Amino acid sequence: MAIVPVRVLTDNRLNYGLDMADPGILSRPLSYTSKLEQRTATDISLVVIHCTELPDLAMAREYAEKIHYPESRTGNSGHFYIDRDGSIEQWVEPLGVAHHVADMNDHSIGIELVNRGRYPHWFNSNHQQAEENYPQQQINALLVLLEMLTDKYPALKTIAGHQDLDTRMIPAADKPELLVPRKIDPGPLFPWADVLAHVNLTRAGKPS
Ligand SMILES: [Zn+2]
Repeated sequence: MAIVPVRVLTDNRLNYGLDMADPGILSRPLSYTSKLEQRTATDISLVVIHCTELPDLAMAREYAEKIHYPESRTGNSGHFYIDRDGSIEQWVEPLGVAHHVADMNDHSIGIELVNRGRYPHWFNSNHQQAEENYPQQQINALLVLLEMLTDKYPALKTIAGHQDLDTRMIPAADKPELLVPRKIDPGPLFPWADVLAHVNLTRAGKPS
């Protein structure tokens, strides 16, 4: 049986209403999207930049499909995922409230960039430096996506890194007497100045 690579499918590309620079976002909804809370377009005021801290998109998908909230039968995920080659997938429709950041899900969109981050020793005290750069094609795709989103959602005015919104520290996995950040994404290698120069968004949260 032939396996059809997901990226050659063309029948469910999303149209965000822009003629130019359409990156051909692939819609690939998570299994529980119908169970997520819904909101209106004017509720969306913040976009949060994440990295997956996983080696590839396939593993990110496995994590996103896991049920973390037994009552609602839903899990944790971003709305959009951008791979290293710049391909973009939508896993949760923006009007669905995805679980991607503490306390701010109801008014935010989560964008996940595929990047290893601290994988696989996320919370080891000696493994806190992210070493993988963000390829330019991945950042270019992010800029196109951000432009599409700010065009479609006029209340979207602010952008933040996950690390700036969740600054909690937890005991290190190897040395519980030491504390390590719960979230470092998107981390020091994310090109903030470049991104902010190209989008009509103000950075929120605590710059690091
Ligand atoms: Zn994150």
